[in-house]
Amino acid sequence: MKPTHIEHLGIAVRSLETAIPYFENILGLECYAIEEVAEQKVKTAFFKIGQTKIELLESTDPEGPVGKFIESRGEGVHHIAFAVENLQEKLDKAAEKGVRLIDKTPRKGAEGLNIAFLHPKFTLGVLTELCEDPNK
Ligand code: ZN
Repeated sequence: MKPTHIEHLGIAVRSLETAIPYFENILGLECYAIEEVAEQKVKTAFFKIGQTKIELLESTDPEGPVGKFIESRGEGVHHIAFAVENLQEKLDKAAEKGVRLIDKTPRKGAEGLNIAFLHPKFTLGVLTELCEDPNK
């Protein structure tokens, strides 16, 4: 697999409005983008720290994946996203090795990245996202 770096950490929050000031005022990071991903039923806010980003996820629907996550586990780290090249090939290889895929083919995520999730039952309980920048 060999990811090139951690692309971002996804953190589920109840409210961007209350979470963003913590990241800006306490950690001193700057929110550079807010984007709604309708398909995932979330609103996202992004911060950069080196080449890695923090992606805050606020649910827009209690029945969405992040809404359900917060309902059962509360706020906290939701997923880790690794940057890879040739995403489809990496997915096929993971499947060959017995990893269950949530996405068998890449789809569009925030920031124009192609993304796919691996099932947390096969990744030690950590929901794992692979992303590929189609402009690279
Ligand atoms: Zn993500």
